[in-house]
Amino acid sequence: MAAVSFSRVEKSFGKFKIIHGISFDIADGEFVVMVGPSGCGKSTLLRMLAGLEEISEGEIAIDGRVVNDLDSKDRDIAMVFQSYALYPHMTVSDNLGFSLRLRKADKALIGERVANAARILDLDKLLERFPRELSGGQRQRVAMGRAIVRDPKVFLFDEPLSNLDAKLRVAMRAEIKALHQRLKTTTVYVTHDQIEAMTMADRIVVMHDGIIEQIGTPLELFDHPGNLFVAQFIGSPAMNVFQGTLRKSGDDDRVEAEGHLWPVRKLASAVDGQAVHYGIRPTDIQVGAAGEGVPAKVIVVEPTGAETELLLQVGEAKMIVVTHGRTLVQPDDMVGLRIDPAKVHVFDRSAAAARI
Ligand code: ATP
Repeated sequence: MAAVSFSRVEKSFGKFKIIHGISFDIADGEFVVMVGPSGCGKSTLLRMLAGLEEISEGEIAIDGRVVNDLDSKDRDIAMVFQSYALYPHMTVSDNLGFSLRLRKADKALIGERVANAARILDLDKLLERFPRELSGGQRQRVAMGRAIVRDPKVFLFDEPLSNLDAKLRVAMRAEIKALHQRLKTTTVYVTHDQIEAMTMADRIVVMHDGIIEQIGTPLELFDHPGNLFVAQFIGSPAMNVFQGTLRKSGDDDRVEAEGHLWPVRKLASAVDGQAVHYGIRPTDIQVGAAGEGVPAKVIVVEPTGAETELLLQVGEAKMIVVTHGRTLVQPDDMVGLRIDPAKVHVFDRSAAAARI
């Protein structure tokens, strides 16, 4: 096990800088997920930690030791890729033991480690099969088994579930999380899928255009997104956001947007007339009878069984509301939206779109 630290890390390809001075620390035993849209630089950051990509500027340390000039094989890490990278001509057992055989480890030790990994990952009955005789999920488990067998200081995962169908992805997500709870090995996991990040991480690093937008626990990011980018990236369906203007009258703060006044908590640091983004999550809105709250028109009703998703029209804008259970509303109905001011997120309308 080991702590990992990134200190002012930069990466350039030719004259293009794609990682802009990133610093953060990962604690020993922590499960950190780096998440962000395609091209934000998360894979490159992971590959620099793995030693597969040179570090242009700054330092990366594992267990207090700077690894910039250390060969990948000497970093004591194990990486699991999206493509599994299994050897097709080897059995599961030989795939699992390969890295230890390469290091000329003792045969008994290899046998013991392979048996242990097979037991943890429920591969016991598949040890004599070849990769082509396995399902996608089983191949992914073998790829994880190869990492476990090496007993590394740090596990690195690069979008390991992307090739699996939706149901298997959910199952493997839980398996990887359970594996971490059991082994407590420091883990760095890269994905573009915010649900994977939310469900698996101790802490999430949200990246965008080569910088860190915010670092926090899943619920910190969900409850207190530091800026508009994080607010819209974390959470599904995404937060509803309107452009509005802050209206202060006496003790009362409201935001005017889409022709209506919307409730907000008291925003002491904001001024009357300030341009803001008004954000409210689909699950934080109560749908009531027309005449109370903000009026909205129902456009589409989508029951999913336990919940109902409503697409509503307010002024020129569309918004999504998720209600628990079933609802009697129909398309074209008028409804009233009740919003708890404590649940509203307000961001300034500067480029940074920081939380107010
Ligand atoms: P994805 O989810 O699509 O894999 P990512 O966030 O992992 O995206 P990276 O693969 O790290 O992004 O790429 C970050 C940026 O660096 C992208 O703009 C990409 O085009 C660029 N890039 C990556 N590798 C190279 C390379 N070898 N040469 C030039 N540019 C590169």
